Amino acid sequence: MENTAQLLLVEDESKVAAFIKKGLERQGFKVDIAEDGRLGKQFFDERTYDLLIFDVNLPYMDGVELAAYVRTKNTQIPILMLTALDTTADKLAGFDAGVDDYLVKPFDFMELIARLKALLKRVVRTNESTNLLKVADLELDLDQKIARRGGQAFELTAKEFALLEYLMRNRGRVVSKIDIAEKVWDIDFDTGTNFIEVYINYLRKKIDKDASSKLIHTVVGMGYTLKEK
Ligand code: CA
Repeated sequence: MENTAQLLLVEDESKVAAFIKKGLERQGFKVDIAEDGRLGKQFFDERTYDLLIFDVNLPYMDGVELAAYVRTKNTQIPILMLTALDTTADKLAGFDAGVDDYLVKPFDFMELIARLKALLKRVVRTNESTNLLKVADLELDLDQKIARRGGQAFELTAKEFALLEYLMRNRGRVVSKIDIAEKVWDIDFDTGTNFIEVYINYLRKKIDKDASSKLIHTVVGMGYTLKEK
C-alpha cells in the first residue's frame, strides 16, 4: 500500500537521481525528479506528493531552504534529506527547518527503502487540512484551537497548547528542554528552573492519564518525545 506512494526527488546529479528513481520504482514507488531547488519548489507547489527527498546541495535553492519553504505550506509531509559526508555543521543545523530524517551519501539502497517506509508509516492520513496535527488518536486543530484524544476534547491553556503543538510537529524526535524553552517560551534556558517539567506534567495529566497508551515519553538526560509506544 505504502509503496504506491508518490515521491519527489530533488537531486542535481543526474546519474544519482536516475539510479535512485529506478530503484524506487522497482519497489513500486512513483517518483518525479527535479534537477534543482527551483524546479523542486515548482513541482511541490503544482503536484501532490506523499514524501519528499532533497539533496542538500542544489542549484538555485538548496535542500535546507527548500525544506523550510515546504514547512510554511505543509507541516505533515515527510522530508528525507540526502547529505554529503562533508556537509557543514551549519547545514545540519538547518535540519531544524522540519526535516524528518537524513541519510549520508553514499548510502545503502535498502537503508533508503527502510527509512522511506518508516516515514510513510508515520504519516496518518486524516483529511486534507494541514491545520490538523494528528499523532495516534491525539488531534490538535490549529484553526479552532481544539485538542482531542480519542475524540474527546480537552481544555488547554495557551502555553500548554503551544507546547503540545511543538511536540506534535516534532513527533518521533527527541526535543530537549533547551529546544522547548527557546521555541515555545522564546527564552534562553535557565538550568535553575523546572517549569518545563511542570508543563509537561500538566500535558500528561490531560493527554495520557486516562489513555491506554502514553504518547509523551521522557528520554532520560535528553528531553522528551511524543510518539506512539
Ligand atoms: Ca547535489
